[in-house]
Formats: sequence, structure tokens, C-alpha cells
Amino acid sequence: MADLVEVSRRLRENVERLEERIAAACQRAGRVRDEVQLVPITKYVDAEVTGLLHKIVAVPLGESRPQVIWVKAPLIPNAAWHLVGHLQRNKVGRTLPLVSLIHSVDSERLLIAIDEEARKLGKTQDVLLELHLTQEATKSGFGEDEWDKLPEYVLPLQNVRVLGLMGMAALDSTPEEARTTFAKLRSLRDSWQGRFAEPHQLKHLSMGMTHDFEQAIAEGATLIRVGSALFEGII
Ligand SMILES: *Cc1c(COP(=O)(O)O)cnc(C)c1O
Repeated sequence: MADLVEVSRRLRENVERLEERIAAACQRAGRVRDEVQLVPITKYVDAEVTGLLHKIVAVPLGESRPQVIWVKAPLIPNAAWHLVGHLQRNKVGRTLPLVSLIHSVDSERLLIAIDEEARKLGKTQDVLLELHLTQEATKSGFGEDEWDKLPEYVLPLQNVRVLGLMGMAALDSTPEEARTTFAKLRSLRDSWQGRFAEPHQLKHLSMGMTHDFEQAIAEGATLIRVGSALFEGII
């Protein structure tokens, strides 16, 4: 038990330090803190530590693997969940009832599968479209050759609402390179605004992780997905 008390103390310190950095980045960018939502990524810790963090932050939590949400969600009943990693179509059914936002939709087939499953559930599923912005083969997301088709992909969907775009900088980016990648995502979002009719609205930009969220905030991120910084001294 003493152990968990210590873990809670570390978490609280880490959250506080992260909050200071987020606030400073907002201030430098001339943005108000409320425009940026922290999505704590809890993939590094078990359900118990995830629950402790949830008590402290009281915001929706992010996981990169759907199966982990299946396990953690029933153990932390008050938490809302964002999926930020790849979703296979055969996992859509079990995942949709548990997630308020999917950041990582990366194919037309997945959009269709989500739409069908959401209809069965009588739900509108909020999603972001993940774009592949770098040369890295390992990253997922819609490739540039598909970007023009995204409005067509979305048009027939009845139970999916697109709320924005998600993207990642290359793993080995310098801060300047990361910022350039984020600026690109923002300019795509700005230029595509009119191409997605109601109820879609490209209001969110999900970009920025522990090592580059400050650059992302400077370029207009509304959702930052931060994991490691929250668990320093714990993992
Ligand atoms: C793990 C992960 C994050 C958080 O990364 P950190 O560097 O630990 O902050 C953000 N987004 C996705 C998609 C992830 O898989």
C-alpha cells in the first residue's frame, strides 16, 4: 500500500510538471490553456497505476492497443478512453462500446467497419483521420495518394463523425523538423475545412508526444498524446 502512495505522489508531481510545460508552451504560442487537451497515454502501466493516474487527471485516457482498453476499461469504471493506435477491423466490435474517440483511423475499410458497428450500437463514433506525414515506412496513416479521396470516403458514412486529423513526426526528428511536420498537418486541416460537410468538422489536431508536444502546441495541436513524461520515476 505504501508503494501505491509513493506511486501516486510521483504521478502527481509528474502531472504538475507536465502541466507547467503545457501552460508555458500555450503562453509562448499565444494560446489559452483550454484549447489544448492532454490525452494521457497509459500504455506503459497496469490498470492499477492507470486508475491512480485517472484519479489525478480526471480526463479521457489514451491507449495504443484496443485489447488493453478491453482489459482496463472495466477496472476503471469512470474513465473515458481514446484509442490512439492501429485498430484492426476484427477488433472494432469489442472496441467501439468502450471508446469516445479513435485518433487513428487509417483506411477506408476501417471507416466502413466502424460505421457498420456504430450503427448496430445506435451510436455516432467520433474519429480522427490519421495521415502518414513522413517518409518512415513504419508509420501508419492515410498516404498522400489517398488524401484527395478522404471526403468521398467519409460522404456515405451515417454513424461516424470526423472531428479532425492526427499525425506524427518522424522518430528521429529534430524539434525543428517535428514542427515542420506539425505545420503541414495544420495547413492540411485548414485547407480541407470546407471539404467535409456537417456533421463532420475538422476542429481537432492530434499531434505531439512527450518529446515534441511543445512544437505541436506551437503549431496548433488541440489534443496532445503524452505518455512517458507522466511515468518518469515509475517505469
Ligand atoms: C505511445 C504513444 C504516444 C505517447 O508517446 P510518449 O512518447 O510516451 O509520450 C502517443 N501516441 C501514440 C500513437 C503512441 O503509441
